[in-house]
Amino acid sequence: MTVRLDEMTSPELDARVKAGPPVVILPTGAFEQHGPHLPLGTDAMIPQRLAERVAAQIDALVAPTLSYGYKSQPKSGGGNHMPGCASLDGATYTLMVRDLICDFARHGLTKIVLFDGHMENQMFLTEAADLSLRALKSEGITDVRIVKMGYWISINAALEKVLFPDGLISWELEHAAVMETSVMLHLAPDLVRRDLIPDHPPADFPLYDVYPFDPASVSHSGALSSAAGATAEKGKAVVETLVPELARQITEAFQNMTV
Ligand code: ZN
Ligand code: MN
Repeated sequence: MTVRLDEMTSPELDARVKAGPPVVILPTGAFEQHGPHLPLGTDAMIPQRLAERVAAQIDALVAPTLSYGYKSQPKSGGGNHMPGCASLDGATYTLMVRDLICDFARHGLTKIVLFDGHMENQMFLTEAADLSLRALKSEGITDVRIVKMGYWISINAALEKVLFPDGLISWELEHAAVMETSVMLHLAPDLVRRDLIPDHPPADFPLYDVYPFDPASVSHSGALSSAAGATAEKGKAVVETLVPELARQITEAFQNMTV
């Protein structure tokens, strides 16, 4: 049986709901530059593929991935000015996620995981959860539970040591760098341009933000730090550590909800 919502029929899904609502994982990504070596869909592909593995472990379902997200920010994604980025305004993004949560819940899918692959989405997902709960409450639907998590939350100290034997510079500067490149080398090796993997010092940003952002104020390849240390073995270690741990956390999050 598929874990993908879009491969099920309406009667099949309805039967699942009536048997007790399954957990639905909604992968949320972005269409964002990831240096010269990783595809624009990296932030959507990673959570989607992890979600399918997690769902198989806990008998959950995976909703169609949201492949566009909130605007790439210079310090965490290189910036929305870079070629190929296509993003949504915060209000648009928030309302799109709100609408989907509401429709899932109206059809009985009341256990929803917002499973994020793009840091910039985070607070808009919080807002979407809040707005959807408010809207559903006014319709008399009060048994909805939403869990928000980035797929990266379960990267622990041991895994950090595997990824960065010489020490981690900073997670914010990991965009298109060692972690994402390693995971893509494991999950989608044919999509990684190995001969173009960038190796350069980390981007050097001021502590403050200036609007409009001046692209000339920083120079980097689109990766915010070197990806030279990436390997498929590290990617395998990330996936094999994260999948059971995320499955455990999702199970725990729905078990512990007593409200
Ligand atoms: Zn990314
Ligand atoms: Mn991103």
